[in-house]
Amino acid sequence: MKKFKLNNKTIVLASHNNGKIAEFKVLFSNYGVKIQTISMLGIEEIEETGKTFEENAIIKVKTVPDGSIGLSDDSGLCIKSLGHSPGIYSARYAKKHGGWLKAMEKLYFEAKQKNCFAATFHCALALKSESSEISIFKGEVEGKIVWPPSGKNGFGYDPFFIPSNLKKTFGELPHMKKILLDHRFKAFKKMAKFHLADN
Ligand code: IMP
Repeated sequence: MKKFKLNNKTIVLASHNNGKIAEFKVLFSNYGVKIQTISMLGIEEIEETGKTFEENAIIKVKTVPDGSIGLSDDSGLCIKSLGHSPGIYSARYAKKHGGWLKAMEKLYFEAKQKNCFAATFHCALALKSESSEISIFKGEVEGKIVWPPSGKNGFGYDPFFIPSNLKKTFGELPHMKKILLDHRFKAFKKMAKFHLADN
């Protein structure tokens, strides 16, 4: 892909997840990038049929109309002792088990049986250029899951995940602090190296 710059352009986020959309708005705010979302264009969420974060990110970014710059994120929490689940099924797992709290409880107590709480958040970003070329950028954050969950910031599994070297959950950290150390930011920084110029 050519090293085109995103500064001052409009990009279409292929996401219906308000937590992610809020994080991207903050991350792009210094670069004059205007954010639209696929829901603003009347595009429905697509089924994620991929087997990896990368495959799902590509499936999602392809829903952005050709000619527009698209960005998608597929992310999730992988718990080591549970065979890296829920992984790509993180959102679907919570839906199936009655919401975030119930999902976190189930995952925590399953991990407790194995006495291993190590977990990693993964993110794959897919960027689609105006000429429909796609690049992938990945980021990870290691840590552990804890019980009970705490903190009202963030979204999804944030309240029961503590990143390595910190004592607070993602849900307890100030919003800006979480955004600047999470898996999404790590992937974003890799993308920024090629596609964002400091203003
Ligand atoms: P998807 O990428 O839209 O399929 O969903 C990713 C799911 O992973 C989210 O709905 C959350 O459950 C979880 N997830 C991804 N990133 C984060 C995060 O930064 N904090 C908490 N949960 C996350």
